[in-house]
Amino acid sequence: MTTTQDLARRIRLQCLRMCHQKRASHLGGAFSVADALAVLYGGVLAKNPAAPNDPQRDRLFYSKGHACTALYAALGEAGYYPLSALDSFTDNGSVFTSHVNHKVPGVELSTGSLGHALPVAAGVALAGKRKGAAWHTYAIVSDGELDEGSNWEAILFAPHHKLDNLTLVVDYNKIQSFGTTAEVLNLDPLPAKFEAFGWETLEIDGHDHAALAAALDKGGRSGRPRVVIAHTIKGKGVSFMENQLAWHYKSPDAAQYEAARAELEGHAA
Ligand SMILES: [Mg+2]
Repeated sequence: MTTTQDLARRIRLQCLRMCHQKRASHLGGAFSVADALAVLYGGVLAKNPAAPNDPQRDRLFYSKGHACTALYAALGEAGYYPLSALDSFTDNGSVFTSHVNHKVPGVELSTGSLGHALPVAAGVALAGKRKGAAWHTYAIVSDGELDEGSNWEAILFAPHHKLDNLTLVVDYNKIQSFGTTAEVLNLDPLPAKFEAFGWETLEIDGHDHAALAAALDKGGRSGRPRVVIAHTIKGKGVSFMENQLAWHYKSPDAAQYEAARAELEGHAA
C-alpha cells in the first residue's frame, strides 16, 4: 500500500525533475508544502479524478501559484492525468504553466497573483454552507502572501459567516521571496492573530503526516473556520536546499539534480 510519506517523496521527485528539465524555479516552496498535499490527495480529500468537477468533491484552493510543481505532481499522482503529461511543463501551448493554471484537471483556480485563493475559498465555502452541501473547502496559502490585505478581509469574513466547512493551511516556512518573514513583514504572533479574528487555530509540524491528517480532518467542527498553521521547512527533504532563500529561485543544475534525487530516493552518498 502506498503511504502518504511515499506519495510526498514521489511528489518531491516530480517537482525536482520538472524544475531541472525546464530550468524552472520555486522548488523550496514546493518541497515545504509537499507533505500537506500528500496527506490531502492521499486520503483526506473527497475527490473524483475521473470527473474532476464532480459536484460532491471537496474544493482545494491552492494559493501558492508559484510553487505549481507540487500541485501538478500531486494531481498527477492522484490520477487526474498521466504523469507523462508533466513532460510538457512550461512548453508553449501546455496547460502546465509556470504558475497554477485552472485548465489543468483538478485545479479550482488559477493562482500566482498572491492573496486571491483564500477570498475565493471563503466565498465558495459560504455558498456550500447555504446549499447545505456535504463537501468541504480547503485553502493553502504561503506565509509571505499573508502580507496581502485581501487575505485579512477573508480572515475577517470567514468567522463572521461561521464557515466551519473551511480549512486554511498556512505553509509557514518562515521564508518569502526577499528574505525571512520576520525581516520582510513580521507575522508573529500569527496564531494569536487568527484566534483574535475568531478562527479555530491549530499549530502543527507541517511535515508530520499524522498531525496533518488529524488537523485536516473534516469532522468535529465547532461553528468556526479552522486554520492549520503548519510549521514547515523551505526546501524540506534535500539537505542543501533546506532553509535556503536561494532555492526560492534556483533551478537545480545536473549535479544538484543528481544529488537531490539521490537524497530523496534514500541513497545519498
Ligand atoms: Mg514562505
